[in-house]
Amino acid sequence: MERFHFESARLRVRFGTGSFAHLPEEVERLGATRVLLLTTPQQAALADRAQELLGPSAVARFTGAAMHTPVEVTAQAMALVEAERVDGVVALGGGSTIGLGKAIALRTALPHLVVPTTYAGSEVTPILGQTEGGRKTTLRDLRVQPNAVLYDVDLTLTLPPAASATSGLNAIAHAIEALYAPDGNPLTALMAEEGIRGLAAALPRIVADPEDRPARAEALYGAWLCGLCLGQVGMALHHKLCHTLGGSFGLPHAETHSVVLPHAVAYNSVATEAMARLLRALGAEGDPALAVHALAVRLGAPTSLRALGMAEEDIARAAEIAASNPYPNPRPIARAPIEALLRRAWEGAPPVP
Ligand code: NAD
Repeated sequence: MERFHFESARLRVRFGTGSFAHLPEEVERLGATRVLLLTTPQQAALADRAQELLGPSAVARFTGAAMHTPVEVTAQAMALVEAERVDGVVALGGGSTIGLGKAIALRTALPHLVVPTTYAGSEVTPILGQTEGGRKTTLRDLRVQPNAVLYDVDLTLTLPPAASATSGLNAIAHAIEALYAPDGNPLTALMAEEGIRGLAAALPRIVADPEDRPARAEALYGAWLCGLCLGQVGMALHHKLCHTLGGSFGLPHAETHSVVLPHAVAYNSVATEAMARLLRALGAEGDPALAVHALAVRLGAPTSLRALGMAEEDIARAAEIAASNPYPNPRPIARAPIEALLRRAWEGAPPVP
C-alpha cells in the first residue's frame, strides 16, 4: 500500500426517514437554546416546520439565503444573530442555505446544524464559497464545518426530478475527482466508488418517480459519501472549470457540473485506476467519459453550455482563466485542449475519449 494521510473532523450524522422529528434533540446536543433558522425564500415552509418542532428555542428566522453566499445577504443574517442573541444556527436546505450557515459560523464560531435537502454535499465539508462585488472566492476552514447533520430522506421527495438529476451529478463529480486526487487515501476511494454506485443506481429511478423512497434514500446516502470525499481531498480540472464558469460567467451551479463532467472525465482518462473504479461504480463497460455522458442523457440533464446561456466568445476567455492558475490534475492543464474541451461542452457534443 502506498503512503497516505488521513484526517477527520468531528461530525455527528443522523440519517433516516422521518429523522427531522429529532431536530429538538439534536439542537439540544449542540447546547443551543436560542436558534436562528435559515432557508431560501422557496423553502420558508421548512422553517415553519422547524419552528413548530423547536418552539420557543427558535428565536429567529432568516429566509433570504441565495446562491453563492453573497456577503450582503450574510450581513443581513448577521444583524439577526446579534439582535436576537442567537447561540446556534440551523440551516435547512441545499448548498445555498448551507453556505449562509457556514458564513455565519465563520464570523461567530456558533454551533451549527444542517438539514440538507439536495445532494450537493456541502454539509460535510469545511469549504465555503462567498461572493463579493461579483467575485467568488473559496476558503477551506474547519470553523465552517457544520457540527451535526440531520439527513431526512422525506425532505428530499420534493426536490424536482431535473434538480435531483443535476444535484446528483454534482455529487458524482466530487467523487470522480476524489478518485484521482493526489491527496486521496484508501477510505476516500471506497467512499467515492460507493457514492457513485448509489447515486448512479438511484437517480434514474428518482427521475422516473420522485417519490420513490428507497431510491431517495440511496441517493442521499450516496450524496453524503460524495460530500465526504469533497471535504477530504483537493478537487481538480472539473471543479476549477465549473468554478470559472459559475464565478466569472454566471452559469448555474449544478447544471454546469452536469454539462462539464463527461468532458472533464475524458480529459483525465489518463488516470487509469480511477477510470476503472468509475466504470465499476457505474456498472458500465467501455469508455468512462461516454458512460458518464450516457447517464446524464438518461437523466435528461443539460449537456450544452450554450443552452445554459454561455456566449460563444466567452469560451476562449474561460479557457484562459481555467488554465492560468496551475493545480494538480492527472493530465497537465494546457490552454488549447481546455479550449477544445469547452467548445465541445458548449456545443453539446459528446466527450471525445
Ligand atoms: P440550492 O441550495 O441553490 O437550491 C436550489 C433551489 O432548490 C433553491 O430554491 C432551494 O430552495 C430549492 N430546494 C432545495 N432543496 C429542495 C427540496 N428538497 N425541495 C424543493 N426545493 C428544494 O442548490 P444546491 O445545488 O444544493 O447548492 C448550490 C450552491 O451550493 C452553490 O453556491 C455551490 O457553490 C454550493 N456548494 C458548496 C459546496 C461546499 O462544500 N462548500 C458543495 C456543493 C455546493
